[in-house]
Amino acid sequence: MFRDPGIETLGRADLERLQLSRLQALVARLHERVPFYRERFAEAGVTAASIKSLADLRRLPFTTSADLRDTYPAGLLAVPMDEALRLHTSSGTTGRPKALFFSPRDVDNAAELCARSFVATGLTARDVLQNMMTYGLFTGALVAHYGAEKIGCLVIPAGPGNSEKQLALMQDFGTTAVHLTPSFALYFADFLDGKGPEARKPLKLRRAFVGAEPYSVKTRDKIEQALGVEVFNSYGLSEMNGPGVAFECEKRAGMHLWEDHFILEVIDPKTEAPLPDGESGELVLTTLCREAMPLVRYRTRDITSVVPGPCACRRTHRRLARITGRADDMLIVRGVNVYPQQIEHVLMAIPQVGRNYLILLEGRDDMTVQAELAHGESEMNEEQRVLLESEIAARLRSEILTKPKVKLLPPASLPASEGKAKRVIDRRTL
Ligand code: AMP
Ligand code: ZN
Repeated sequence: MFRDPGIETLGRADLERLQLSRLQALVARLHERVPFYRERFAEAGVTAASIKSLADLRRLPFTTSADLRDTYPAGLLAVPMDEALRLHTSSGTTGRPKALFFSPRDVDNAAELCARSFVATGLTARDVLQNMMTYGLFTGALVAHYGAEKIGCLVIPAGPGNSEKQLALMQDFGTTAVHLTPSFALYFADFLDGKGPEARKPLKLRRAFVGAEPYSVKTRDKIEQALGVEVFNSYGLSEMNGPGVAFECEKRAGMHLWEDHFILEVIDPKTEAPLPDGESGELVLTTLCREAMPLVRYRTRDITSVVPGPCACRRTHRRLARITGRADDMLIVRGVNVYPQQIEHVLMAIPQVGRNYLILLEGRDDMTVQAELAHGESEMNEEQRVLLESEIAARLRSEILTKPKVKLLPPASLPASEGKAKRVIDRRTL
């Protein structure tokens, strides 16, 4: 399975030498094969020969998601179409999808990185992985599926939804690990709560690989408690293979970003200046091994920072802090910058609040936060509810500096989500 297990603990100097030679080869290849990059490199006045050190990366132009949409469907392809083996797409929230091509080696590398990530959490061939991500054009399920097969796990391609069936599969086949989005994990946790403690007894769950959308530490804690698992944060994006780009190891102290495959930068999204470790900004990634569709300095829009210092596990690849949101997710409400995750963080810390919530923006600039009550709280009387709503509003005020209306709803009254959740509805008439 592992081509080179030593790669995870390779000394920094060797790792950076490897990155540099891969980067030089990449620039040369793109120059030769992709007119889009040939033009961009010419505008920036760079050639493969100008890349003499990793610092020269900064001379290369950025690639944005708008570039991917503008060149849709195949403008960034770096191999002949008949050498491409698989297509995935990422829909995003607006406009045309992004098309992502994989060569045979890309398919294999993507699985390899997922396998590497799973093994770093302690997963072995004896594990049974129930893959509750959406199968299809989305990379989330397939890439992880092949990764777990590489380790030799029994993989159950359950897909999301149908909680009764999920539970039956877990009970019948002794599922030890699940892979799913935080929103479906919360939904499934709710379902299990409704079943009572007996349903949990026969379960052998130990690990949950949770990713594909941002979630707070409080949400992670809720998932761990409800499912009786250790949660490992899994970060990836279709443009960079899908899952397996950065993953928490058994120490769970940040996600190792696999630097033999990607060069990471964290920049100030406005000034584009590089930021030091520990400072939060936009993650920018360059692919070092992708054949079919390599990307240079791709602006992920994801907000994170590099965790300073080495990890106790001895892996030398640097770690990303929990993604706090996307630059695109930032809402401006009454002139204040608000990330939905800040709201989630406040809500999930309140025991009477359940696991589903929605942020509504209406009128000129009015924010209402709707949140479900936890299962045991449905008996709460009107007076208690109003009191709790105003307490939550006050807590939100101190976190996001603007005071929303808060509306508590009975359990299971908001729409459930299986894949990526839609947490914000913006109907403002500004
Ligand atoms: P997709 O290309 O459809 O797989 O979506 C990728 C996006 O999902 C990333 O750019 C992130 O915004 C988000 N995402 C993936 N994994 C995580 C994670 N562990 N934490 C926060 N956001 C994530
Ligand atoms: Zn580690």
